[in-house]
Amino acid sequence: MRKRRVVVVGGGLAGLAVAMKLAELDVDVALMSLSKVKRSHSACAQGGINSVNILTRQLGDSEWNHFDDTVYGGDFLAHQPPVKELAYWAPQIIDLMDRLGVTFNRTPEGFRDQRRFGGTLYSRTAFAGATTGQQLLYALDEQVRRWEATGHVTKFEMWDFLGPVLDDRGRCRGCVAQDMVSMKIRAVEADALVLASGGCGAIFGRSTNSIACNGSAVSRVFQAGVHYANGEFIQVHPTAIPGADKLRLISESARGEGGRVWVPRTPQDPRPPGEIPEKERFYFLEHRYPTYGNLVPRDIATREVFNVCVKEHLSVDSERMCVYLDVSHLPRELLDRKLAGILEIYEKFQGVDPRRTAMKIFPAVHYTMGGLWCDYERTAEGGLAIGSPRNQQTNVSGIFAIGECDYHFHGANRLGANSLVACVFSGLTAAPGVANYVNHLPRHPADEERRSLFEGSQRRHEARYKAMLARPEGGPNPYRLHARLGELMTRVATAIRHNPELEAAYAEVCEMEEQARRASLSDRGDWANQNAVFARALEDMFPLAKTILRGALARDECRGAHYKPEFTMPQVDADDPAERRRQAEIWCQRFEENNRKWLKSTVARLSSDGEPQLSYEEVDTTLIPPRPRLYGVVGGELIEEAWNSRQATATAQERS
Ligand SMILES: Cc1cc2nc3c(=O)[nH]c(=O)nc-3n(C[C@H](O)[C@H](O)[C@H](O)COP(=O)(O)OP(=O)(O)OC[C@H]3O[C@@H](n4cnc5c(N)ncnc54)[C@H](O)[C@@H]3O)c2cc1C
Repeated sequence: MRKRRVVVVGGGLAGLAVAMKLAELDVDVALMSLSKVKRSHSACAQGGINSVNILTRQLGDSEWNHFDDTVYGGDFLAHQPPVKELAYWAPQIIDLMDRLGVTFNRTPEGFRDQRRFGGTLYSRTAFAGATTGQQLLYALDEQVRRWEATGHVTKFEMWDFLGPVLDDRGRCRGCVAQDMVSMKIRAVEADALVLASGGCGAIFGRSTNSIACNGSAVSRVFQAGVHYANGEFIQVHPTAIPGADKLRLISESARGEGGRVWVPRTPQDPRPPGEIPEKERFYFLEHRYPTYGNLVPRDIATREVFNVCVKEHLSVDSERMCVYLDVSHLPRELLDRKLAGILEIYEKFQGVDPRRTAMKIFPAVHYTMGGLWCDYERTAEGGLAIGSPRNQQTNVSGIFAIGECDYHFHGANRLGANSLVACVFSGLTAAPGVANYVNHLPRHPADEERRSLFEGSQRRHEARYKAMLARPEGGPNPYRLHARLGELMTRVATAIRHNPELEAAYAEVCEMEEQARRASLSDRGDWANQNAVFARALEDMFPLAKTILRGALARDECRGAHYKPEFTMPQVDADDPAERRRQAEIWCQRFEENNRKWLKSTVARLSSDGEPQLSYEEVDTTLIPPRPRLYGVVGGELIEEAWNSRQATATAQERS
């Protein structure tokens, strides 16, 4: 009998982690990737990976604190059992990666060094210089190569996943994919499919993501019936270098090592930053959030950068919006030892040495919090039942999702350095469930059924491909359409959103979608046709773009990265103390009402006419009750007081 086999789409951290673990469990893996797996986007991750360790424990940190920071950082939108399990696994994951050879930075005593990242007061982020993702990826790649040598893993590198193959019971039986060199299309038989295909930043044109992060694989399973959750939650990172081709991240680690964000108090002060005296600088994050300072979570930092540039007209430059990110006060030795990887990026692309001169930065699209909807099985203690086939399984039997392309863990806003750990965690913990799923499948389909299923699917994809190559000349240009889509999405669906703009954008995206279906190819060749691969990926961006817009349009509130000025919370700004107290009470009441209405995940399914249909799912918040997300903002003390006394009254009433 044929051994059980799983197709894993994606060779980033999540894909490699699940492949390694499945092979260990004696399940064969076909590992598919658009690029060589070592060039997956995970290699770009710079700053680090989160877990408590012996050093943070001495300062009072714990797994529960990591869990709490993650839930609070995500504005309570994540189901709590998977997040709790993640936080409790994190120290073991770092130990594992250490054993596998990752060269984590060390303290002089030999402990793994940790830096602080956003949304926590603990230095909880382990790192390998400023190239952490690359080191982690290479360590897992070595392990997967070992399994490749034993025949457990077969790699399909430079292959484009085109779609799942579902049997007449709606169960996944494999997939169809295209070799991006020979352009041959082939059906690959399997007992389950694991999507580990990363985020979809390319929908926004320029972002900090690799260009391969186009969401194509996710969109293809979405179009085949898998649900997509919380699409409207897209992270905009506060600190990136604007560029004509892409936006390059300057990692949060720069602030974690002491970097400070500021603008001159005089608008567009012409002096070089180093010549502007301290008292003439406005350290706006430190001023407004004295407790968290430059390390408030990303959604908050990004909005503050926007506010200081747009509302307060304090952008450093007049012709483009930007603020200073300054590390020039830090010792050169520290910068070279801990941040060389990112500082070299700035120096290379801006021609300025950030060790001497403050960097000019601005927010950029960075991370996809939403993703394929997937399930989990909760234990009585509120953790995950490891080994359950429900874990990470989507609504379509036999299709699983892990890593950045799933929607668990980060809710409405991801904390920095929580993604790498979530990728490895979801890969390692999904594997036993996937193995149980495939090992308990009733039987392989009969030969005849298999032939018709796979040959039929392959033929359909071949026909679609041929039709694309045969499109007449003179149709829309796919690259121009992509640039238009990116500009539109960036303008209306990033840091600040307004309903009329979202509505107009939806109509425009539908019109572009129709044009993309007619886009002409300049290359009709049968060898390494990147033009065809790009045009197909572009077509598949539209269902996700529409889902992002629909979700954002429907969600009339502010939560994490989703911000609509019309739905902000009321101000607490009265002069009279009694009136301020009353305003704080009203604030708390509104907070509770809003949670009753909106503390829900958006779940989209694509109808047969290509329109996303939304429904809402309750979020499991049974372990940490939602509370106002203030991060010590100046003026927030009264809200905190009012909230605490409300909670005390509610508890007393419950007891009596
Ligand atoms: C610049 C930058 C820095 C970051 N730094 C950090 C950090 O310090 N710490 C942290 O926790 N997070 C960080 N992140 C986030 C983190 O890097 C990602 O969330 C994470 O690496 C995603 O891993 P993944 O395995 O889910 O997907 P990826 O690493 O994106 O891999 C996706 C895989 O899917 C494959 N694929 C996609 N589509 C198809 C298709 N159609 N057919 C076949 N294969 C396909 C790709 O080839 C690739 O192998 C950073 C992100 C960016 C942009």
